[in-house]
Amino acid sequence: MSNLLVMKFGGTSMGSAERIRTAASLCAEQYRVRPVAAVVSAMSKVTDLLLETLRHAEAGDAAGVEQRLELLRQRHETTAGDLLSGEFLARILPKLEEILGEFDRIARGMLMLGERPPRSVDEAIAVGERLSSELIAAWLRSQGTDAFAVNARDIIVTDSVFGNASPLMDQTRERANAVLKPALAAGRMPIMTGFNGATLDGRATTLGRGGSDFSASILAAALDAAELWIWTDVDGIMSADPRLVPSAKVLTEITYREAAELAYNGAKVLHPRTLAPLMEKCIPVWSKNSFNPAVPGTRIVPETGDNRSGPCAVTSMSNVALVSLEPANAALNGAKVMARSIEAMATANAELLALTSSSYRQNFCFLIRQSELPAVVEQLEQAFALELAHGYLHPIDVDLDVGLLAIVGEGMRGIAGMAGRIFTAISRETVNIIAIAQGSSEITIAIVVRRAGLEKAVRAVHEECGLGR
Ligand code: ADP
Ligand code: ASP
Ligand code: MG
Repeated sequence: MSNLLVMKFGGTSMGSAERIRTAASLCAEQYRVRPVAAVVSAMSKVTDLLLETLRHAEAGDAAGVEQRLELLRQRHETTAGDLLSGEFLARILPKLEEILGEFDRIARGMLMLGERPPRSVDEAIAVGERLSSELIAAWLRSQGTDAFAVNARDIIVTDSVFGNASPLMDQTRERANAVLKPALAAGRMPIMTGFNGATLDGRATTLGRGGSDFSASILAAALDAAELWIWTDVDGIMSADPRLVPSAKVLTEITYREAAELAYNGAKVLHPRTLAPLMEKCIPVWSKNSFNPAVPGTRIVPETGDNRSGPCAVTSMSNVALVSLEPANAALNGAKVMARSIEAMATANAELLALTSSSYRQNFCFLIRQSELPAVVEQLEQAFALELAHGYLHPIDVDLDVGLLAIVGEGMRGIAGMAGRIFTAISRETVNIIAIAQGSSEITIAIVVRRAGLEKAVRAVHEECGLGR
């Protein structure tokens, strides 16, 4: 659809009746001039609350489960009451009750079994988005906009990696066209749940935490949208996380590649996989602030016209682990150890954030998310059971006291001395550099430092590169 606008609203942009009204008016304003499809997150903190409830269920804490179910019900019923009245309220309450009831049933099932199967977790936590999409759609209808809530289960077809599923784009395109195109053509506004999907045979999945950005880009690509606007709680993509670096500034325009590198290296403002579905069709993305809609935000485009020099942003990631492997015996081929380790990581479904190696000792280390560590260690121990038992491989070393810092920018390519300046700035803060990795794209330098020095190092690099206001 050549003029379709897809708009995504994050948790804080859906966080209260007042925020939902603002989000709805942003949708309605655009809908006056072109077709609009919205994708929404759960109300802020709701996904955390859902996950917490399930953990209490697994642990057999019935009172903890009850208490959280009540909080969940109250939050949504109060919001409905603040937003709606009369017939609109009377119609939405049973719908919310039905969705909450589904969560209730799954949570109580886990309580009985003392288990939390990933597949049921995905089905359960998708209710956050189902509730918020019903609320905003009802409010829009009460204001005269023909909006309707859509469960992404019926649109986004994924593989069966529960908790971190990937879309099957051809099947998703088919469904989006069959279900949403006729409604859009009839002038209706779909409000799709972010975060969730389903396998071809209908099993519920989710796309990973923060995945609603990804849902929106999948939908934009599937419907050939003209643009995607991602509404969040900061003025756009900034030169650093403003919570860490108060002088960080908003970037007016960045490339897909830069945005993807920033997201993969920890800039929470975008889910790492958001850009991938849009690249092929060159669909432009805007990152905008629903608390300050008058400012334009950041435009993400295939290429920027200007020839910028130097980096544009610094990111960091703290919940990471550095895993090191080293052959103890020359009989063991380092390259083979590396190949088998990477295969083990793939089996564990973990993502390799950085990798460095030394040719002489044949040792190497790689950085992963702490949440993926147990699965990775298990796979590595299985893959190298014999070598570890016979001492051909030193015991696997895990260092949790580390953080990742990344400096990103198309303008870094070929700038002599940039790396030197960055390392000097970090050392001046007496922060230890543990490992360095630079991808072949040359637009990112990733540096692993001691955890305690991470924030200091981010501020020092931001300052050294003159990225602030
Ligand atoms: P949403 O709920 O709208 O998806 P998120 O909390 O996921 O919002 O992402 C927005 C947050 O990302 C901001 O509040 C900000 O603190 C954080 N952030 C981290 N790095 C950056 C960056 N480089 N630019 C802007 N925001 C960033
Ligand atoms: N609600 C989900 C989460 O908190 C998805 C999202 O907000 O993007 O992870
Ligand atoms: Mg987010």
